Amino acid sequence: MADTIAAIATGGAISAIGIVRVSGDSAISVADSMFQARSGIRLADAEPRRMYYGEASGPDGGLLDLCLCCISRKPGSYTGEDTVEFHCHGSPVVLSELLRTLFSLGARQAEPGEFTKRAFLNGRMDLTQAESVIDMIEAETPAAARNAAGQLRGAVGTRLDAIYSDLVDVMAHFHAAIDYPDEDIDEFELQVYLYLLQDASEALGFMLSTHERGRVLRDGIPAVIAGRPNTGKSSLLNALLGYSRAIVTEVAGTTRDTIEEKIVIGNIVIRLTDTAGMRATSDAVEKLGVERAIAALEGAGLAIVVLDGSEPICSEDADAIKSIPRHVPKLVAVNKSDLPQTIDFDALNDLGLPYCCISALTGSGLDALEAGIKSLLPDLTIPPDGELISNVRQADAISRAREAIDRAVGAINDSVTPDAILTEIETALAAIGETTGKTVREDITERIFERFCVGK
Ligand code: GDP
Repeated sequence: MADTIAAIATGGAISAIGIVRVSGDSAISVADSMFQARSGIRLADAEPRRMYYGEASGPDGGLLDLCLCCISRKPGSYTGEDTVEFHCHGSPVVLSELLRTLFSLGARQAEPGEFTKRAFLNGRMDLTQAESVIDMIEAETPAAARNAAGQLRGAVGTRLDAIYSDLVDVMAHFHAAIDYPDEDIDEFELQVYLYLLQDASEALGFMLSTHERGRVLRDGIPAVIAGRPNTGKSSLLNALLGYSRAIVTEVAGTTRDTIEEKIVIGNIVIRLTDTAGMRATSDAVEKLGVERAIAALEGAGLAIVVLDGSEPICSEDADAIKSIPRHVPKLVAVNKSDLPQTIDFDALNDLGLPYCCISALTGSGLDALEAGIKSLLPDLTIPPDGELISNVRQADAISRAREAIDRAVGAINDSVTPDAILTEIETALAAIGETTGKTVREDITERIFERFCVGK
């Protein structure tokens, strides 16, 4: 018996249309008690997936909204349960009053992600598809949304199901070998299992090889704008964003904390951090800012060093460059190209870093700077079917499955007893099952759906 849950699915902002969802055994009867279709039909007799225009009543029974209502019957709905959707005018007041009415009739507030969790528990989707729903909602670029859509269609689950099925096959034969110890697995058969396991390992290895790109696609790259004070770091941040986010003054040391904003270059979200200018200072607050700048540089995937082209390179510039960890790719923006340039270009070339001349003030050279940034980013050509594994949990489980399969292959090659091989195959099966949700622990499921928004 599934209790009936309800939630506003369209968030709390004023919008043209707002949707309230209801799911559970009594969803249709609860909705029926507060909705009168113009055609006179009761929701209990309504055609699934058809919109009915009518009147929704509020908690006191009075008219609340003229809206559309649509039912779906189990098992052919998103959640696999009877569901109802009200498409109302997008007033937060109307929507919460409608919700209050549903609660008074026996529904309860849905928890975050509970609709999708029910879809998973009722077998409407596997766990990789459920996780792609949140990736799709949170996608920050069209490419990330497309990858998530491919995974919602089953790109990850389908591949893993095929490997799972092969492993079950091999496992069955090893079980038989243990149950009937007199009947040895013959050489030819063993070779077939070996190939199957090697293929499985290769397929999982291919999936894992996409993870780094998948992670960048979903999470973006942290980039730090670094340099000594007053070279124009905040001005550059504002110029890249296209609006005035950071305070710009000619007083050195104005940016005392790190400021984070994002831009999209190519397919990649760049999480830009404007830092306090790097310099030795006795000011306690500025010192903290410099420490934060150094911490941001530690985790950076890219650093844009801003130099002032209207001044010679000084020791503070050199110190700022030195403070960037070796592993972080660097690009120099020689700023203030609108002023007479006195920077020593030979000294600049000696730094051995790619550079471009820009003016954060006039916007000149920003296209070249973006092209320079792009050249330091990983190639993110997106395969069309959701192939990039962006989810760390999935990558971890796939990696464990692969390791177990590789151990099984090693055990067969070393002619180890069937029970040891079987144990490894079972470990691999459990890890794949964890990824798709076949064998996932309940606490992990809970944690996954907690990340969703209410109403999804
Ligand atoms: P930060 O301390 O490195 O963040 O530098 P700011 O962005 O606060 O800029 C310091 C000063 O340089 C301000 O007076 C800016 O108006 C000026 N400035 C920044 N970029 C340019 C530029 O491209 N051309 C000129 N002429 N001035 C600039």
